[in-house]
Amino acid sequence: MRHFPAFLDLAGRTVLLLGHGDTIARKSEPLRRAGATLRQAARFDAALLDGVVLAIGADAPEADLQALSAEAQRRGIPVNIVDRAALCSFIMPAIVDRDPITVAISTGGVAPTLARLLRQRIETVLPPRIGALAALAGRFQALLRRRLPDLPARRRFIDAVLLGRPGELALAGRDTQAEAAFAQALEAADTAPAGIVHLVGAGPGAADLLTLRALRLLGEADVIVHDRLVSEQVLDMARRDAERIFVGKARANHCMPQAEINALLVRLAREGRRVVRLKGGDPFVFGRGGEEAAALAAAGIAHEVVPGITAALACAAESGIPLTHRDAARMLTLVTGHTRDGRLDLDFAALARPGQTIAVYMGAATLPDLSAGLIAAGLDPSTPAAIVEDGGSGASRRLDGTLGSLPRQSRGWSTRRPALILVGEVVGLARLPCPAFELVDATADP
Ligand code: SAH
Repeated sequence: MRHFPAFLDLAGRTVLLLGHGDTIARKSEPLRRAGATLRQAARFDAALLDGVVLAIGADAPEADLQALSAEAQRRGIPVNIVDRAALCSFIMPAIVDRDPITVAISTGGVAPTLARLLRQRIETVLPPRIGALAALAGRFQALLRRRLPDLPARRRFIDAVLLGRPGELALAGRDTQAEAAFAQALEAADTAPAGIVHLVGAGPGAADLLTLRALRLLGEADVIVHDRLVSEQVLDMARRDAERIFVGKARANHCMPQAEINALLVRLAREGRRVVRLKGGDPFVFGRGGEEAAALAAAGIAHEVVPGITAALACAAESGIPLTHRDAARMLTLVTGHTRDGRLDLDFAALARPGQTIAVYMGAATLPDLSAGLIAAGLDPSTPAAIVEDGGSGASRRLDGTLGSLPRQSRGWSTRRPALILVGEVVGLARLPCPAFELVDATADP
């Protein structure tokens, strides 16, 4: 290690900025945030260094920069001349500022661009409100020491609280509730930990379509309870030693009845575990997330819902189909093609109204009935329609046609992967071929 990192308390202390220009202005910004008093000058004079704890130079005549460097070093004041390693006694890191948490990155001055890239990476993995979380822990520091004088016990408590409900609330921006939950946890510090269930949307399949919150919770969970729709790619994001429970769901082949899944979630949480209930797409869009949330509420279990990218959004985005459009679609309807007692129980009259986009979930098997129902209710058979299979997974296929032609075209096309049907004028605006592009001429008889 060539440079030793340290964090300076600059509040109320004077920092000298020599030079005028964009560079100096940029460097002054974090100093200002740290509460430093800034002394700025265009030319160097030794007296400028009186009472100064740090000096930075840029955009000034060469002789002045050299003089500043020499005089500062003679007096033992750390000095940085921007982009002039030989004149520096300290280097400035790239900074991630989530006050009071600060991450400083240095490449020893040799690859500043790489430092910026690393900073971007770190920005994305740190929850935006991690600072609030640290501040919360800070506010309880003294009380915590008194209540739990034993260091290991204190550590265990802090880990549990920051990963638990109070931490959750702080990260969600609910500071007052977070504080109350923290205080409550401290009250009950020696009782058993309380479990929590997160109903998390896993999105359509690609790991980078997860939300950052989902990613974080996957990294913290003790147990993952997941469906058939959740991809391996997404499961790979989970903590390595987390237990995985598959409660697979295929149409007409529910491996575990819903009531049993509900009971399982309640039991796991009562054991004090952090449970992530991972569901394809969004938990509240045809995911029975509502039923699970109700069961958890009834059992008095803490739970939160993390939204995910639902199939309709993923399939449309991937195909370049705008789901709403000023001219062609002022309404978007998500419907299920799942039948009750073998009958497609939909309000066809409402669905056939012009000016809307219809996204049909679980509709591959009932497509002929859907098409016939919509046409009988007055929707033009030439309305553009498409089936997207495995949308947003990186391995999708799309079949383009019309409301009238699609049932015939799609015979034998499905590979039995999840598929979404999109109907409406906007489907004709599809601009992007799927990676495994398969366009069948709507007028041709296959
Ligand atoms: N909660 C999920 C939907 C679950 S219902 C969501 O928000 O996406 C299951 C149905 O969703 C499937 O039958 C299919 O119609 C649709 N679906 C889910 N993932 C899909 C995908 N990657 N591509 C196309 N359709 C998908």
